[in-house]
Order: sequence, then structure tokens, then C-alpha cells
Amino acid sequence: MVACDALFLGPHPDDVEIACSGAILRLARAGRRSAIVDCTRGEMGSRGTSDQRMKEAAEAAAALGVADRRNLGLPDTKVAADDASVRLLVAAIRESRPSLLFAPHDRDVHPDHVATAHLASKAWFLSGLARFEPGLGAPHRPRTLIRYPGNVPIEPTFVLDVSDFADLKAQVIRCYRSQLADGGARGHLVQGLDILERAQVRDRFYGARTGCAAAEPFVVDGPLLLRDLDSLIG
Ligand SMILES: [Zn+2]
Repeated sequence: MVACDALFLGPHPDDVEIACSGAILRLARAGRRSAIVDCTRGEMGSRGTSDQRMKEAAEAAAALGVADRRNLGLPDTKVAADDASVRLLVAAIRESRPSLLFAPHDRDVHPDHVATAHLASKAWFLSGLARFEPGLGAPHRPRTLIRYPGNVPIEPTFVLDVSDFADLKAQVIRCYRSQLADGGARGHLVQGLDILERAQVRDRFYGARTGCAAAEPFVVDGPLLLRDLDSLIG
């Protein structure tokens, strides 16, 4: 993978876009490079084929302007934080050498999201150990592991104002045509809302709680270090 500042790990193509595309767009505006790693091709999804979802993922990556996107090819619904999967993710981390690793939160109803959360924890730590699989590249541990919510609400450590990017985020999510409500197909959708509606409701909710139009929620383990207070004043 190419070098990046932030690496976004998703269980299925579209999870990163739903939760974090505002963060990716904000990083891009600050001149920071992002890359995406998807664990699976989403072949067990109720809607669309894996070929369709791979095409949609490529389109979304282009719309986001990410530097790279890799699919680990793990089996959908059977993601596990096993040794082989950890090695694949450690290789991606050591190649791209990000400062920030974004990964799912482990409180989720989808087993792949829970497993991907654990996979991220293991790979984040082990990729920094010099004697762990030296053939996979020079050791590197991202400075901060940041969690994003999936299907279960979490109380965020911080929220990121993505108001300026709400329209572009909607465009990015619309790339996943197979996952959008298309008249009469709502029976397949979680809580009757498609992925765009769920993302917009959540972003508006956290925006309303913090005084902006739209905000993405994130969690970090332990204290979050701020290097200045400017963003709290401005
Ligand atoms: Zn998912």
C-alpha cells in the first residue's frame, strides 16, 4: 500500500464511508492522505453482488480521493481475529505507516464488526513489535487507534464537525447504489432506513448535541491528547 496519514479499516465495503467519510474529506482538505482497508467483499449482504459492491467501493474511493484501497479477501460473516488475518492487516499497516488507525467499535450486532474491532486491536499492537513477523516490513504502530460506531450507538470521546462535507459525504455513500432504498425494498434494511439515511440521522444528531450541522462520533481508549486549545476556541 502507499504511505498515508490515516488508515481506515472496515469490515465490509461501505462501513468506512457511512461512519468516517467526513473525517477522510476533512483530512484531505488539510492535505492529509488516507487509505482504506476492507476486510471482506460483502458477498453475504442481502442486497447486491460482491462484484457490484467492489465496483461501488472503487467509485466511492475515487470520490473520496483516498490514496489507496485494499481488500483483505476475508470471508463475509466469518471474519476472525486469527493469526492469518492479523498478518494481512499488519502487512497493510507496515506498508502504509499511518499515524491514525480508524477501526470499528466492538459494541455491534454484526459479528464481523466485532471481529474486525478485535483484529484491529491485535494488529495495531503487534505491528509495532520488531520481532513479530519481520518479513512483513519494518515495525510501525499508529499513534492513535480511533473507533467508529456501526449499528449500536456509543457515547463518543470526541465528535468531528463534518458540516462542510455533508453533501459530498452523501454523494460518496450514494456510490453504493445496491445498498440504497430503491422503492419497495425497505424490508431488507436495518430499522427501515438505508445506509445514507442512517448516516445522515446520526451525523445530524451528534451535530445537534455539539452545536453544528453534522458531526461524526468517535471513541479512543484512554485520554485523548490535545496539543493546543485553538479548535475549542475557534
Ligand atoms: Zn458492515
